[in-house]
Amino acid sequence: MHNENKKPTQLLELVTAITRGNIKVIDLTMTLDRKVPTIVLPPELGQSWPFRMEEISKYNEKGPATYWNNFSCGEHTGTHFDAPIHWISGKDLPNNSTDTIEPEKFIAHACVVDCCREAEKNPDYLLTIDDVCSWEKTYGKIPPRSWLLMRTDWSMKKTPEEYLNLDDEGAHTPGPHEELIPWLIDERDVIGFGCEDVGTDAGQASNFKTPMPCHHLMHGRGRFGLPALTNLDKLPAQGTVIITPPLKIRQGSGSPVRVLALIEE
Ligand code: MN
Repeated sequence: MHNENKKPTQLLELVTAITRGNIKVIDLTMTLDRKVPTIVLPPELGQSWPFRMEEISKYNEKGPATYWNNFSCGEHTGTHFDAPIHWISGKDLPNNSTDTIEPEKFIAHACVVDCCREAEKNPDYLLTIDDVCSWEKTYGKIPPRSWLLMRTDWSMKKTPEEYLNLDDEGAHTPGPHEELIPWLIDERDVIGFGCEDVGTDAGQASNFKTPMPCHHLMHGRGRFGLPALTNLDKLPAQGTVIITPPLKIRQGSGSPVRVLALIEE
């Protein structure tokens, strides 16, 4: 157990560096309010609740000294964590839900691939193995157990309509190519995939040969998802540590999460 004589030097150095601003903390989280875009599924399927908040009291007759609220939303609302149990491919894995995932997996390194120019030209842009290999030529190989974060600046869209970008064919939002996902798992051993749009798969991914490959393959192999991130433009390509603990919901498939990134200045 704890050795009382041993000073926790590395942890003390970490908090000192944060206090001095040598390590900066970047918030990668959307603000939860009524305007936060909620995923829209075909009408025959079940639907996720949007974020709603109702005042309990605000220093008034319902509570003279207190301000607090009730809120409700689906597990997959705003910036959120996707656990392996979210997909049928991950339903029988051990430690596959928000309450059973090992806590050390909520702190990990992140690589950020900048696709914002491509996504601006083509909302259905798909990140390929070739793209990631050319990223690696500049920034180095993806270290094992890293997140691969796809920067598109999609989180800067002004309205929920632009953000969801729906038409008769469904959503048009960028995401990973179906061949990239097994490669990231088998060749780079990533811990998960994160992005700036409403889900980790591209808007048209239900039409792929393997439908919804980021969900199906990542969760089937015990990896995670982190959609609806913001501020990815503030991160370096390599060397970020991100902290991503979901709420400890029993058998939870995910939850809104406050994602913090630590970067060295
Ligand atoms: Mn989700």
